[in-house]
Amino acid sequence: MPELPEVETVRRGLAARIAGRRITHVTVRRSDLRRPLPQDMGQVLTGRAVQSFGRRGKYLLVHLDGGRVLIVHLGMSGRLFVDGAPSGAAHEHVVLHFDDGAVLSYVDHRRFGLMDLAEAARLDDHVLLSAMGPEPLGTAFDGPALAARLRGKDTPIKAALLDQRVVAGLGNIYVCEALYYAGLSPRRRAGSVQGRRAVRLAGAIKDVLEAAIAAGGSSLRDYVQASGELGYFQHRFAVYDRAGQPCPGCDCDAAVRRIVQSNRSTFYCAKRQR
Ligand SMILES: [Zn+2]
Repeated sequence: MPELPEVETVRRGLAARIAGRRITHVTVRRSDLRRPLPQDMGQVLTGRAVQSFGRRGKYLLVHLDGGRVLIVHLGMSGRLFVDGAPSGAAHEHVVLHFDDGAVLSYVDHRRFGLMDLAEAARLDDHVLLSAMGPEPLGTAFDGPALAARLRGKDTPIKAALLDQRVVAGLGNIYVCEALYYAGLSPRRRAGSVQGRRAVRLAGAIKDVLEAAIAAGGSSLRDYVQASGELGYFQHRFAVYDRAGQPCPGCDCDAAVRRIVQSNRSTFYCAKRQR
């Protein structure tokens, strides 16, 4: 599932390839993804120029002239391709054609993604965005800000960090990684992460996200894969999906453990994370 670094890499690829282009026509092949697509989406988008690409948490924000914004969430398996999806690709649901001949395809075989339209002037009040917590890479996000959002919470810290109202953009992978580098047990009560622990965790969140974005950029030309797919999927982690393998931070043979929390796998080192 794409998390903040993958979505940010997609955003940068779009900015490099598509910004400034005008949409000449739109093909919408079905009426819904996770929820219904706006009925007038094709009509609203046609003829508009893309001013910039933004991001809020895991949402891509396509800012168009005329004050409209297309909100895109990739869900579990949504993918964007420039210059068209690979020939014969199934599940190509929405296609945008641009005035320079560029083609942007949204492909999603599980259809957990979504698209919606918003007014730029009232973007922060949109139902998908209004309750969202701070951007973890923003200056407003630090130890005290995180501590304030965790205070009094009885859920495990792992579950609290997956809640987009606490901090935006994190999913299972980067929550596991950040807790590892912060040395905090995923089972720890969220409300107990205060003071220096919160400073350590906020710093670890920023570090893992920044490193992942940097890795995506270094492995891709203009953040676009050779296939034309935007974004990347990182596959080297300290603990995520490494159950039973040695923990990279312990010089003994401590192995990464897997437990299930809220129906999702958590990976951690019991020696290093308390
Ligand atoms: Zn360890």
